[in-house]
Amino acid sequence: MSDYPMLIGGKLVDGDNKLKVVNPATEAVFATIERASQKQAGEAIAAAKAAFPAWSKTPIEKRQAAVSKIADIVRDNAAELAGLLTAEQGKPLPEALGEMAWTEGYLRHYATLSLETKVVQDDATARVEVHRKPLGVVVGIVAWNFPVLLAAWKLGPALVAGNTIVLKPAPTTPVATLRFAALIKDAVPPGVVNVIADENELGAFLTSHPDVAKVSFTGSTETGKKIMKSGADTLKRLTLELGGNDVAIVLDDVNVKEVAPKIFDAAMLNCGQVCMAAKRIYVQDAIYDEMASAMAAIAKDVVVDDGAKQGARIGPLQNRMQFEKVKGLIDSAKKEGATVVGGESGGRTGFFIKPAIITNVKEGNRIVDEEQFGPVIPLIRFKSDSEIVSRANASPYGLGGSVWSSNFDRARKIAEDIDAGTVWINQHITIGPHIPMAGSKQSGIGVEQSQEGLAEFTQVRVLNMAKA
Ligand code: NAD
Repeated sequence: MSDYPMLIGGKLVDGDNKLKVVNPATEAVFATIERASQKQAGEAIAAAKAAFPAWSKTPIEKRQAAVSKIADIVRDNAAELAGLLTAEQGKPLPEALGEMAWTEGYLRHYATLSLETKVVQDDATARVEVHRKPLGVVVGIVAWNFPVLLAAWKLGPALVAGNTIVLKPAPTTPVATLRFAALIKDAVPPGVVNVIADENELGAFLTSHPDVAKVSFTGSTETGKKIMKSGADTLKRLTLELGGNDVAIVLDDVNVKEVAPKIFDAAMLNCGQVCMAAKRIYVQDAIYDEMASAMAAIAKDVVVDDGAKQGARIGPLQNRMQFEKVKGLIDSAKKEGATVVGGESGGRTGFFIKPAIITNVKEGNRIVDEEQFGPVIPLIRFKSDSEIVSRANASPYGLGGSVWSSNFDRARKIAEDIDAGTVWINQHITIGPHIPMAGSKQSGIGVEQSQEGLAEFTQVRVLNMAKA
């Protein structure tokens, strides 16, 4: 058996296929993992289906305890998992350890959530109770930017609510997730959690399978649309956390020296490969030049290197396709007349791109209109508070957005009109397990995290009892 088997029906199994996984900092294969055939994907769904009746009847306290146990396992194995994550994903080791700490923290929070029955009528004629029942088999499919954290965002609420799950990481980042699967194998009864890998070919099978009740997906908007189509015939429940092109609106009353590094961090976390990263930075006229110089000065000194090396602040892009896409967007900005400071790539092994600060751009430029998902900061000039809301909202995406100002009321007035699932003031990407996370427009459907997110893993069941 290889070092990275899959978990199906409580057993660690070889795949009918293998997959080589590349370290994006070295471009060398660093692991070979087990990959499922369609038959094995079907076996994983069958195992989850078989485990569902007993798991759904298991008292919620025991299901919460199992999720707590999984959180303990993440904590106890954080160093190993983070090392694998850096090797496959590229993020600097401190960020990989951060992903493990978040994973543990989110799981711990889910383990505290429960599903209360509500009594909506209790009088002489009837007692009406609203129960929250589990759905059945959940398929969790995730992107390559936060593989383990995103898997936990599916697994935690699915299990607490009484569902069983089949998880599938992205083909370029399956290693830490498969290791996680092996570590948690005995924390739940066989079949409750199944983890399989593919090479991008099993999505349609998993999301159209008649025995799957719900798909919880994190990835691109294009794939989200395919999942809606493939789940339509069986009317699957869907939670779709999709792409974003978040605005950060910087008003002219900010202290540029204080705000510039915060916005830089909000754009560059995980090499800019964050759904909620700041991706369109609107800067008001009076401070535009000062902000551009401050950002360029920060970018110049940032250490871009293999995430396994001490001191690396920004790692490589996660995969060659993303690397080429971001390079193409930078080139197109140049062709469209933008000024690009940084953004160099090439001349070394690995998918590295230095942070790019791009000025003299506006709507209509690809670097502004498209989700770049890389170490790129386009700065767009705006004049007045009254014009900014419509410009910010002129995007098919609506995941997050932020407003930066020293005047809270002024910032809030703008923030309230931004069409996004989350709007921050004087911060960006601040999320937590107790805070609902949702996308508006084409950034998603449904909610993750918090009690609202847990409810999405359930079906309302009304018990309406006549008394007369
Ligand atoms: P992607 O959509 O290409 O892939 C995501 C997952 O979907 C992978 O596991 C992939 O194998 C699988 N997949 C591919 N084809 C499928 C199909 N037809 N049916 C079902 N599954 C299929 O996305 P990506 O490039 O890996 O990730 C980057 C995108 O994810 C960005 O747009 C980013 O904004 C988004 N994202 C969103 C959130 C969020 O919470 N909103 C979080 C992280 C990433």
